[in-house]
Amino acid sequence: MPRPSVPLSRQHPAPSQLPEVSRRLRERYLPQPPAARVSREPLDGLIETILSQQNVAVITRRQFAGLKAAYPRWEAALQDGPDGIEAALRAAGGGLARTKAAFIWNLLRQLHEQRGHLSLNELRGMNDAEVRTLLESLPGVGPKTASCVLLFDLARPAMPVDTHIERIARRLELVPFKWNAVRIERWFSEVLPPTWSERYTFHVSTIRHGQQVCRSQRPLCAGCLLQDLCPSAGVFLAQIGTAAR
Ligand code: SF4
Repeated sequence: MPRPSVPLSRQHPAPSQLPEVSRRLRERYLPQPPAARVSREPLDGLIETILSQQNVAVITRRQFAGLKAAYPRWEAALQDGPDGIEAALRAAGGGLARTKAAFIWNLLRQLHEQRGHLSLNELRGMNDAEVRTLLESLPGVGPKTASCVLLFDLARPAMPVDTHIERIARRLELVPFKWNAVRIERWFSEVLPPTWSERYTFHVSTIRHGQQVCRSQRPLCAGCLLQDLCPSAGVFLAQIGTAAR
């Protein structure tokens, strides 16, 4: 029998500054989180999550609205095929229309073959593990996308880790540098309070911090609200000082 693996939070306990990091980010970026909401159709949320990959929020919303206008029912998109979906995405603007159209059509096709209809409403009655198993059986759906559907469409306390959260967790040395996003997500799931509100707030506020301040290139450490808690601040500030000389 396989031995149960040691929880990541025992291998690497949460640093003492994590609650303060979380508090400051919440106060700055999301002092009043919305009420938890279960989506009327989680399949919509799944397709919107696929559109959001390598896309900014405004284009994602436009592409999703374009798809819904072209196909009020997903059955029509399945029938139209990848070329039709691609045309609807191109009309809404944004890149990767061909790739995303193929992705979406394959997903619809497999879902229809597996379940005989195009809805994911039954996810609402499943536990988190069952939701993940079903979603990750679909083409192109990985753990992060499944976590997004759990958090945003089913109001479950999941903790998807995107590129901003991954970068900030490393720069703050919350997690070991070599951990990948899947491991970081598992670790956050163990150390953050297990409520939807806490995780939603941490997820959204950390992404906003990554977009506005702790950017991938030239982070704005001098004005960062986490500077006194961040072991990387000195390195970046020294780089700026050297460049200014
Ligand atoms: S101090 Fe700099 S590296 Fe650290 S979290 Fe803030 S912006 Fe990011």
